[in-house]
Formats: sequence, structure tokens, C-alpha cells
Amino acid sequence: MTHPAQPKASHFINGAYVEDTAGTPIPVIYAATGEQIATVYAATPAIVEQALSTAKEAQKAWGKMTGTERGRILRRAADIMRERNHELSVLETYDTGKPLQETLVADATSGADALEYFGGLAGSLTGEHIPMGEDWVYTVREALGLCVGIGAWNYPTQIACWKGAPALACGNSMVFKPSETTPLCALKVAEILHEAGLPAGLYNVIQGMGEVGAALVTDPRVDKVSLTGSVPTGKKVYAAAAAGMKHVTMELGGKSPLIIFDDADVENAVGGAINGNFYSSGQVCSNGTRVFVQKGIKEKFLARLAERTGAAVLGDPQDEATSFGPMVTENQMNIVLGYIEKGKEEGARLICGGKRADMPGFFVEPTVFADVTDDMTIAREEIFGPVMSVLDFDTEEEVIARANDTEFGLSAGVFTNDFSRAHRVIGQLEAGSCFINSYNDAPVEAPFGGVKASGVGRENSKEAIKHFSQVKSVYVRMGDVEAAF
Ligand code: NAD
Repeated sequence: MTHPAQPKASHFINGAYVEDTAGTPIPVIYAATGEQIATVYAATPAIVEQALSTAKEAQKAWGKMTGTERGRILRRAADIMRERNHELSVLETYDTGKPLQETLVADATSGADALEYFGGLAGSLTGEHIPMGEDWVYTVREALGLCVGIGAWNYPTQIACWKGAPALACGNSMVFKPSETTPLCALKVAEILHEAGLPAGLYNVIQGMGEVGAALVTDPRVDKVSLTGSVPTGKKVYAAAAAGMKHVTMELGGKSPLIIFDDADVENAVGGAINGNFYSSGQVCSNGTRVFVQKGIKEKFLARLAERTGAAVLGDPQDEATSFGPMVTENQMNIVLGYIEKGKEEGARLICGGKRADMPGFFVEPTVFADVTDDMTIAREEIFGPVMSVLDFDTEEEVIARANDTEFGLSAGVFTNDFSRAHRVIGQLEAGSCFINSYNDAPVEAPFGGVKASGVGRENSKEAIKHFSQVKSVYVRMGDVEAAF
């Protein structure tokens, strides 16, 4: 019997599901059991061509519609997503293995927020009037044209919407390629957008591995590429986009610092560290995986952290009582287990977890290492799993220097009850998305993105509009034209 997660077809192009079984089969494995639940096929060159040509053509009329008309469609799609939240959350859980307890509140809901927010902004995307004496200049905010979105596997619905909603609001079309690991959810986003009245061809989803992504990025018809992925992939995609002088947004990896001063509220700091390390089983780019704890609070912090981490409920992710799911794939599980072994070998002190959970699926126990030093592999490399490194520190100046000593710069957090210190420290941290007495909040109203190797550009908020549109300026002369000859 066909599993309910099996999509109608692999691709969604020009307003309809499209199949081409000549492409490489991509098995979809449910991470909680290891069972294959669906199959999709990678896009063949014919599918890539169909998606790009349809998106290029459809954009012309969409870009000419009023923003209010475009926004109405996006807001209708947001409503449909909210009505179907349960069904979409179940699918997200099949796609990623993340517990339903999380997906019910973090995925389709976040996607709907993006559609609603950018739908609301669409009607107000205007230029300005710049007086020049009798003459004047006016500016027009125009669409870029055809945008490509390429997704990672940790938030397949959210990423499809975070890229699609601002792109469409600005009058662009999109071809979105989900991660080959989680190909299911973006198809539903496309289906819902079209049900809400999006004209055919404006939001297309095609499947495939890196080479399909590369084919999209290098196509001369593409005006912009927005990637969510790892730093090595980001470097390749950025370079390929640069060769074609295309706009980019790069949402990449991190190894973010979370700094806990000894005057912080311990329960809140532990809560922040749990949210910043174990949500989605640690598969979150902005996670605060280097937890710097001031020496005065260290033992108290570790004791409560171990106690509360022990309350994580590992189990069937479709059961709402489960609060901690598996790694997305067996491969990701093995990568994470490899890092745990490295942590042990390099002399970090294991506080809790530290191994594969004794159950079916790709579960790794939530793991905390203490006495981690800056040079250890687990403190330097992005693990993308439930492995928290706790490092000690003495002074504010010292911790700022150590926190910044990384190629990454996605996020940073500070827990303290001293508000001047909180702002002073955040002001010196090299990171794009920061938190004070909190961690990992990502509302659509706030810009999201990194500095240094963690990325270029911003998603969400009004900032995203700048990255999905361009400004035309028009000088208007009222008098005669003077010329030298
Ligand atoms: P990945 O870099 O392996 O793949 C990301 C996407 O890029 C996939 O869809 C993949 O098929 C595609 N791709 C690979 N090579 C390509 C190429 N040469 N040209 C075009 N596309 C190509 O990343 P992943 O393993 O799917 O996701 C995990 C990574 O994503 C982590 O590093 C994580 O930190 C990062 N991430 C960042 C954010 C953010 O917003 N900053 C959010 C989620 C995940």
C-alpha cells in the first residue's frame, strides 16, 4: 500500500504535478524507523528546462500586477496553510523525523507567517521622490525576475516559504529545489499557493541533488539565487552565481556562542541552552553550540542542565508526547556519533548522553560535554546534531575574544541580569542574529542571517525585500538640455 507521505508526483511545474521517471530515483526514508516511505525522481534536463522556461514566462505578467493583488494571494495561502497545519505537520515529521510536538508549532505555522507578512507588505513596496530643484528623480522598486531557491533538510516547509513569500511579494517567480533528503513538503507549499490563486508557473518545485541545483544556478535566465545550506556548498553556489553576476542570499552554517554570565537566572539560561542545542535534535543552523559559562555558575548550571536534559522524551515522533526525535538520516547520525567520539578522545568531560539511543531509527541521545576547550574539534566544527559543548570563562573581555574566534558568524546569545553588560557584549559579537536572555527565536518580523562565513544577505523582515527587488532611478528634467556642442 502506498504510504500517505508519497506525493502525487516528483515535481510541481506550471501549476501542476509533473513526473519524469527517467530521473535518478531518490528514496525518502522515515528517520524514526529507517523505512522507505516514498520515492521521488531527480529532475532530468527536460524537467529543469520546463521549470525555468515556465517561471521566466509567468513572471512577466505577475510583475505587472499590483502589490495588493499579489499580497491577497499570499495571504490566502497563509490561511490555507494554517487550516491544514495538522496534516502539514504530520508530513513535515515524515520528511524530517522532527517530533510532531515541534512541527505543529514551528513549520507550517512559520511558513504561514512568512506568507502573511510578505503578503501584507506587497502593496506598500514603493520607491521615493527626490526633489532636484525644478527637476526630480523618482525611484521604482522592481522585481529581480526569476529567482532560484535551494533548501537544506532541517526546515523544508519553512525554507520553501521564507524564500518563496518575499520573492513572490516583490513580483518575482521562483524555481525551488528542496534538499534531496526532504523532498516532500515544498510540493505542498506549491500546491497551496496555486489553490490560493497563484497563477501557474510562478512557484515551481523540482527535485534533485547538487547537480540539479548547479544547473539552476548557472542558467543565464536566473536573476537571483537564495541558498540555505552548508558553508562548502555556499562557497560553490556563490562562486557560480558570481560568474553570472546574479544576486545571492546565502544562509549557511554556524558554530554560535551562547554566553552565560554568573548573574544570569540559571533556569532561563538552562532553558536557552536546551532550546539552542536540542530543538530539532540539534539540526538548527543558528544553534548556540559553544556554551560559555562563567566559572561561578558552572556547577549549578551543569547540574540543572543534566537533570532537565534527562527529561527529554525520545520516541515515535508522530506521538505528541515525544519531545526529541532522530537525526534526519543514518549518515547524519554517523557524523554526529563521530564527533561524540572525537570529544571523548580529545578529553572533554561527558555529562550526559554520548551514544546512539537503543531504539529503532537514527536517534542520538542529547549529549553534553563540559570542560571543552577552544581548540577541540567539537568546539570548532559545526556538528549539526544534539551535542552541546560547555566551555568555562572568567572575564567579559576574554569571552568576547573567544566567542569571535571562529570563521562563522550566524548567531550569538547572552544571558545576564546586567542589562548594560548584555548590550555591551552583544555589540561586540560578530554575528547576524543575536539574543539577550533567550535563544533561537526567529519571528518573520526580525531579520535573519549571518556574517563572516555564515552568509550574505538577510531573510525575513523588510530586509528580505531588499534582497528580492532592485531599485530603478529615473531623472526627470523639466527644462532644456544644455550640451557642450
Ligand atoms: P548542503 O550544503 O549539503 O545542501 C544544501 C542544498 O544545496 C541541498 O538542496 C543540496 O542539494 C544543494 N546543493 C549541493 N551542492 C550544490 C551545488 N553545487 N549547487 C547548487 N546546489 C547544491 O546542506 P544540508 O546538509 O542540506 O543542510 C545542512 C546545512 O545547512 C548546515 O550547514 C546548516 O547550518 C545549514 N543551514 C543553514 C540555515 C540558515 O538559515 N543559515 C538554515 C538551515 C540549515
